[in-house]
Amino acid sequence: MAIEFNSSKTENTLNPESMKNKREAALKRAAILRETIQDYLAAREKIPSGFDLANQYEQAREAILKAFEATEENWNDWHWQLRHRITEVDTLARFVSLSDQDREEIAAVSGHLRWAISPYYLALVMCDEPHGPLWRQSIPSVQEITDTNGSDDPMAESWTSPAPAITRRYPDRLIINVTNQCAMFCRHCQRRRNIGRVDCHKPRHTLEKALNYVRKNREIRDVLITGGDALLLDDLVLDWLLGELQAIPHVEIKRIGTRVPVTLPQRITPSLCALLEKYPPIYINTQFNHPLEVTPESKRACDMLVRAGVVLGNQAVLLRGVNNNPHVMKKLNHELLKVRVRPYYIFHAKNVRGTTHFITSVDDGLAIMENLRGYTSGLAVPTYIINAPYGHGKTPIAPNYLLAKRGNQLLLRTWENKIIPYEIPS
Ligand code: SF4
Repeated sequence: MAIEFNSSKTENTLNPESMKNKREAALKRAAILRETIQDYLAAREKIPSGFDLANQYEQAREAILKAFEATEENWNDWHWQLRHRITEVDTLARFVSLSDQDREEIAAVSGHLRWAISPYYLALVMCDEPHGPLWRQSIPSVQEITDTNGSDDPMAESWTSPAPAITRRYPDRLIINVTNQCAMFCRHCQRRRNIGRVDCHKPRHTLEKALNYVRKNREIRDVLITGGDALLLDDLVLDWLLGELQAIPHVEIKRIGTRVPVTLPQRITPSLCALLEKYPPIYINTQFNHPLEVTPESKRACDMLVRAGVVLGNQAVLLRGVNNNPHVMKKLNHELLKVRVRPYYIFHAKNVRGTTHFITSVDDGLAIMENLRGYTSGLAVPTYIINAPYGHGKTPIAPNYLLAKRGNQLLLRTWENKIIPYEIPS
C-alpha cells in the first residue's frame, strides 16, 4: 500500500490536548469502550463453561459410576479411569444417544484407528449437545478414514530425530517423546500416527539414550517431555527422568506436555505434585479447547499444580466446529485465566491425514486475534501459530498493526481500527 503519513487524513481523536473538558471526554470514551464489547457480553451468556454445567455433570458422573458398579473412590483414582476408558461403540451407546449412522461410522473407524475416552471426559460429553465441541474432539467421525488429504507427519518429526525418542527443530531446545499413551485419543491429534494398537511407554534404555544426547549437547537449555501424554508415566519413572534432567547443568528449564488437566484431572495427585515440586522450574502446557472443558475438577488439578510451583500455559488448537468463533475463544481464555492457566498459543490445525475436517481458514484465526487484542486483557491474548511444514517450526500469524514505516515515522492501526501516525524521537 502507498505510505500515507498525512495526519489530516488519519484519526487522532484521542489527543488529550484537543479535549476541553477531560472528565467529560473520559466519560464519553468509557461509553464508547463499553459499546465495543456489547456483542461479546451478550454472546458469552450462551456459551456455558464447565462450571455452569456442574449439576448435569454430576448426573452424568453418577450414571457412569452406576453402570460400572464403581465408587466415588474409583472415580478419583486415575488408574481406574484409565482402565475404564470407553473404547467400544456398545459401551458408548449406553451413555450417549447414537444414531444407526453414528454407530456404523464409529465401528468403521474402529477398524483402522484406536479411540478411547476417559469416564471423566465422557461425563463432560454427556453434558454437551450431540456432535457438539466435546463430542467432535472425542468420538470418531467417518471423515477420519474417508479423508485422503494431508500427510501422516506434516511436521516431519521422523526427519528431525537426531537420537532415539528425541525431536529437535530449534537451536536451544528439544522434545523427549516418552509414551504413546493418552487418557483420551483426541480425534484431531497431530501425532495420531503414533497411537498404534497398544499403549507403549518408551523403555528405560531408550530414555537413557535421549538423556545422553541432552548431556552431550550443551546448547540445550530447555527440554520438553511429551508423548502421547507425558503425565501418564508413573510417578517413579517421572521422578527418575526429571531428576536426571535436573542434574544436567545446562538444562535450565523442563517442560511437560500433557492434556490430563482436561481429560483426566484425577491424575494430578498429591504424590505427583510432591515430586514435581522437587525439580523447579517446571512449565506445563496443556490443551483446553473449549470453555466446557474448564470444570471444577480441572480447576482443582490446576490449583494443585500451581501450589507445587508449576507454571501453567494453554496451547489451544483452532478446530472447526469446536472453537473457530471469536466469542468462544475469548470466553475460553477468560475461563483459563480464572483457573490460573495462561493462554499461550492458538495452533492452526495441521494438515494431518484424517483430521482435515477440523481445519479452519486462516481468516477464522485472524478474526479471533483481531477480536482479542485490545478488547480484552493482554494476558488473555495468546500467539496464533502456524507450524511451517517439514519441521521449519512455529510461525506467528497476526493481524497487521504496523501499516507503514518510513525512517522514524510509523503508521499504526490500533485495535479499534484507527489509523494513527507515530513518530519515534530521533
Ligand atoms: S492428548 Fe495430545 S497426544 Fe494425546 S491424543 Fe490428545 S492431542 Fe494427541
